Amino acid sequence: MSLPHDVESHLTLVRQRIHNAEVEARRAPGSVQLLAVSKTKPAADIAAAHAAGQRAFGENYLSEAIEKMDQLADRDCEWHFIGAIQSNKTRPIATRFDWVHCVEREKIARRLNDHRPDTLDSLNVCVQVNIDREETKAGVAPEHAAELAQAISDLPRLRLRGLMAIPLATDDSARQRDSTRALKALFDSLLPAHPDLDTLSVGMSGDLESAVFEGSTMVRIGTAVFGSRAPRA
Ligand SMILES: *Cc1c(COP(=O)(O)O)cnc(C)c1O
Repeated sequence: MSLPHDVESHLTLVRQRIHNAEVEARRAPGSVQLLAVSKTKPAADIAAAHAAGQRAFGENYLSEAIEKMDQLADRDCEWHFIGAIQSNKTRPIATRFDWVHCVEREKIARRLNDHRPDTLDSLNVCVQVNIDREETKAGVAPEHAAELAQAISDLPRLRLRGLMAIPLATDDSARQRDSTRALKALFDSLLPAHPDLDTLSVGMSGDLESAVFEGSTMVRIGTAVFGSRAPRA
């Protein structure tokens, strides 16, 4: 029998990795936030991470996420939607989440805006960019990011926070860093028009250090916190 996955000690290791990367990159300690990606993992694992001080959780699948949110309703979790957005699901997403990382179309942004309840703060939004121009990957082409960013910032119930990307899957850290550097350059090019942008959502379990080195402000870490995931049925 295998031991239960120890979320708390893994969380400690990930925090240490982030801290070491910040130091090595000569960035201020604490300048990179950890988003714990809990997709496919039970509410008990999220509760364990919460008990260890983690507050921000990323989920990809709406109905699974809502089930866990309901189970954890008494805890002050911050919920980030990081999955593909179907246009008929924008109401529950806009109602239940604090952040949405993967907006790639103006139509979706409008629907999220229309469905964001007035009783809640503005919904925090990142534009997803297909930074390596991969055919199979979601996100706007880099040259269209500015247009979408402008459309989002004109919507009153949304708060544009920055850019998100899932770079090319590779073990080559030089290539990982090229992708994130391109994303950071794009982010910087938006700042004159959008000086409040503060979020570069990039970096996962396998490329956390590369991402921090090139300017990520929020790493989305699943496996290294919660253990490997069973393939989804
Ligand atoms: C699953 C997922 C992650 C976390 O990936 P790990 O490799 O498990 O750290 C990050 N971002 C997105 C968009 C994901 O879907």
